[in-house]
Amino acid sequence: MEQLKPCPFCNGEANTYVQGYANRVKIEVGCKVCGFWFTDFAIEGSSFNMLKESEDKLIARWNRRAGNTDKS
Ligand SMILES: [Zn+2]
Repeated sequence: MEQLKPCPFCNGEANTYVQGYANRVKIEVGCKVCGFWFTDFAIEGSSFNMLKESEDKLIARWNRRAGNTDKS
């Protein structure tokens, strides 16, 4: 899994959360300090690989925001 970069706003520690709901799974990447979040949803019943993929995409988005913005 990609390493999470620190928060782009406060440089705080970032974390990922995966939470199951009735018919979907919520995936979040966010800052523990200032509460800035990216959220994504996957349909329940998605394979583990699909969930992993959603999580990785979210992490990539987070890291792009936090890191060098060669493409805005
Ligand atoms: Zn923060």
